Amino acid sequence: MGVEDLPLREDLRGRSPYGAPQLDVPVALNTNENPYAPSPELAAALARNVEQTAAGLNRYPDRDATRLRAALADYLGHGLDPGRVWAANGSNEVLQQILQAFGGPGRTALGFEPSYSMHPVISRVTCTDWVPVDRTGTDFGLDAGAAVDAVRRHRPDVVFLTSPNNPTGASLPLETVAAVAAAAPGMVVVDEAYAEFRREGTPSALTLLAEHPRLIVSRTMSKAFALAGARVGYLAAHPAVVDALQLVRLPYHLSAITQVVAATALEFADELLGQVKQLRQERDSLVEWLRGHGFAVAASDANFVLFGDFADRSAVWRGMLERGVLVREVGPPHTLRVTVGTPEEMSAFRTALLEVTAR
Ligand SMILES: *Cc1c(COP(=O)(O)O)cnc(C)c1O
Repeated sequence: MGVEDLPLREDLRGRSPYGAPQLDVPVALNTNENPYAPSPELAAALARNVEQTAAGLNRYPDRDATRLRAALADYLGHGLDPGRVWAANGSNEVLQQILQAFGGPGRTALGFEPSYSMHPVISRVTCTDWVPVDRTGTDFGLDAGAAVDAVRRHRPDVVFLTSPNNPTGASLPLETVAAVAAAAPGMVVVDEAYAEFRREGTPSALTLLAEHPRLIVSRTMSKAFALAGARVGYLAAHPAVVDALQLVRLPYHLSAITQVVAATALEFADELLGQVKQLRQERDSLVEWLRGHGFAVAASDANFVLFGDFADRSAVWRGMLERGVLVREVGPPHTLRVTVGTPEEMSAFRTALLEVTAR
């Protein structure tokens, strides 16, 4: 028996599960993970705190994740408090809860593509119609006037803005976010998964929350906090938005282990953000190197770089893989995306790329 023989929802028939290939390669630069494993000090603190928590695992966890939300509010600053912060198993679950509460049958979500491919996927699984609008600005930017026009025309229930954008890399100007938030009839989600990697002087949409009660800023611990394996995402919004999400979240959705792991990692924020700084420098020199070798490169505020132009990007992708370097075939047709890794990994990437493209 196969999936198609089951009484599956009509709209799920013929679909494939989402996910980048998880191949065992020496240099994995394909899913924007942080290359730096937790330090021995952080790993020891995690083990200690998890052991303590283990002794209480017969009980359900704190349903409201109070301590973690306080720590996240503290980390974000901007005068936020736990009532304005919400956490879940990865920002993907945060986004799913947003669509469960504000999207759904008969409703629409709009996004500007190319962007994060999970936005349409989560929209579909929550039975929210997806409205794709092209990013028409230079360097895959978003023209504020065009964005506002699209929002006025389609009147979506939820708008997704990704800043810094994945897979293209650049942040949106705050004015663009503010203009969309002012024009949108429903909720506006700014997916700031890569916020900590943005270039100096680039503001976060957190600064707009006070003025726009239907604005949501989502973040993750998967990238800057090097915690992809723990599955922790969160958002900041008006307290009423957080109240609305309580209507759709499963009770005890965030395990006691996840809560304590995330809170412990936040205690090491300085150390982890120090590594982010190194990764930003590594990114900037990667951009410079690629440009120096004649590749087209989009500006990046993230821990990845979109580069090209390749007549046959699949061939380049395969050639890199044969040399043990896994990048991502994603975005516009002639481009590849590479995650910023350690200096050693980037050196392997450079060598492989020069070989494959015979430059
Ligand atoms: C990686 C990424 C996420 C993070 O997802 P998690 O579920 O928190 O791991 C969210 N949004 C974008 C745009 C991403 O690239």
